[in-house]
Amino acid sequence: MPVAAFQSVAGTDPEPVIVAEAAGGLVVFVEDAGAIVDGASDWPPTKLTALVRFYDEAIARYTAESAFGSSSRWADAFGISPETPIRVVYAGNGHDAAPARAGWVAGIPVISHTTLRTSVSTAGVQLVLHELAHIWDGAHDWALGEAIADTVQNPEGFPTAKARDEGSKEDFAESVTATLWPGYAINRDWSDDVQSDRRSAPLGPDGQWTMDRHDYVTSLFLEAAAPERP
Ligand SMILES: [Zn+2]
Repeated sequence: MPVAAFQSVAGTDPEPVIVAEAAGGLVVFVEDAGAIVDGASDWPPTKLTALVRFYDEAIARYTAESAFGSSSRWADAFGISPETPIRVVYAGNGHDAAPARAGWVAGIPVISHTTLRTSVSTAGVQLVLHELAHIWDGAHDWALGEAIADTVQNPEGFPTAKARDEGSKEDFAESVTATLWPGYAINRDWSDDVQSDRRSAPLGPDGQWTMDRHDYVTSLFLEAAAPERP
């Protein structure tokens, strides 16, 4: 899940062969992406089918009324279009410890999967939510993640250990995942907006912080939904 350090392969045809797509072509699964990612390989068909479903469900969460609210707002915020779709690549060379990486390569948004565990759909969808958040952050030169700690009122309220230990990009991707998947966060103190089962001093929406990580991510959704300024 670390952010990509992709190796570009120079001098090769950048046009991919698309073997599947999601979100009406805003996400494409490509098979000859050696043109942009070193070590790309063919998709195992049954795993590809499962992964496309995970993307469909993840994107449904991003485009829901409680998030971006529409596919076009989501695409605008992500900087993607039918001409510049997210390319999803399989690089099953077994050399990478991370199950997936995401980033922008020469102006192309790319998510590369090295391990395809498709038996548990919950984990699969959460992984895709996380990687898609990197594409979002990367489209904004990683400013979304960099702004978290200075913006929230509980900067130490990381949703997960990964968010705490692996830097602002992972903090952002984990915070987005936790916002889109209630119950994903391990640390209850990451937000007071979601129900908590603690017995004393129960938190309520904005009871403690009007700007925690959940509020921050939600504010980005709202910003994207706001009508354009004249
Ligand atoms: Zn990550």
